[in-house]
Amino acid sequence: MLKQIEKKVVAGERLTVADATAVYFHSNLLELAGMADFVRRRKHTGTTVTYNVGRNINYTNICWVKCKFCNFYAAPGSPDGYTLPHDEIFAKIDELIAVGGDVPHGCELLMQGGLNPKLRVEYFEELFVEITRRYPQVYLHALSATEIIYIAHISKLTIEETLRRLRQAGLQSLPGAGAEILSDAVRDQIAFRKDTTDEWLEVHRAAHHIGMNTTATMMYGSLEAAEQRIEHLELIRQTQDIALREIGSGRGGGKFTAFIAWDFQPEGTELQSNWDRRKSTGAEYLRMVALSRIFLDNIDNLQASYVTQGSKIAQIALRYGLNDFGSSMMEENVVSAAGTFHLMPISEFCRVIAEAGYEPRRRNTRYEFIE
Ligand code: SF4
Repeated sequence: MLKQIEKKVVAGERLTVADATAVYFHSNLLELAGMADFVRRRKHTGTTVTYNVGRNINYTNICWVKCKFCNFYAAPGSPDGYTLPHDEIFAKIDELIAVGGDVPHGCELLMQGGLNPKLRVEYFEELFVEITRRYPQVYLHALSATEIIYIAHISKLTIEETLRRLRQAGLQSLPGAGAEILSDAVRDQIAFRKDTTDEWLEVHRAAHHIGMNTTATMMYGSLEAAEQRIEHLELIRQTQDIALREIGSGRGGGKFTAFIAWDFQPEGTELQSNWDRRKSTGAEYLRMVALSRIFLDNIDNLQASYVTQGSKIAQIALRYGLNDFGSSMMEENVVSAAGTFHLMPISEFCRVIAEAGYEPRRRNTRYEFIE
């Protein structure tokens, strides 16, 4: 079976769901690496591996959704809840600019938070306008589909109206968080109050439709089965097909710029107590990276999850289809609240990429080289 799939890959033919299942269960990881690396080199000639100077800011941890896989949130009214004052947010952006330099839109600001009932669209408009006015160096990559849906709901707006207003205020692209596994059977078990699969996809379709880029993610390793991981990849691929068709016909301009897979971190979450599986391994991560590269033929960039896997596995994953090391982040509060996490200074990005045999190059959020 793998030989036939290899022939399809070499011929540039699209893989079916059955092919993806065969790849997923193929035991020889190095053979998967060979195929994935072939696809990666066809898309990205040369040995460049990109990285981004960016900062993560979790502006609020107040959230009523209580996902079972999350150890970051504080329920509304809890003494542990916070919403960062603007001055604190600006101080964090000052630190980002000090590291990232004076490059227009060259410093990625990733802002994500809980679903806080007190933060309507006006809160974000005011904040984003001020960030954009103060910091022309910042590229505002903020608010997951889940946050957009909730902001629209409590502000009595449609999704498209919400996106247009936030874009007017300075929002430039959406991160792919909140996807977890795009299968309602799984979402009902791990996050039953959260948006459905189609609602998550609808936000990304709407963003693409108005010309806004987004990224796509997958959090694997909680309660899903293999076919649900593949179903997830298939939905991402279909959504990108729609985006690329719109771009091709001149009707739209946004798409998924990248796909990022990471493994569920169970510590301290509600799932930990009834969780009878062991934590996902490095080999499983490499398998997911290779499968994603081979199956997602319409997504150019695959980003490392060094935050959960560490730089050593991320280096190896460069031979399994990755072409990007992701963002420097500078702080992380969501994954780190639930287990293993790793952060690196920018100088380490260059060293780690170079020692894996690649040429490190800084990019912006649009995946354009900036140095
Ligand atoms: S994952 Fe997001 S939506 Fe779910 S509880 Fe945590 S902060 Fe809230």
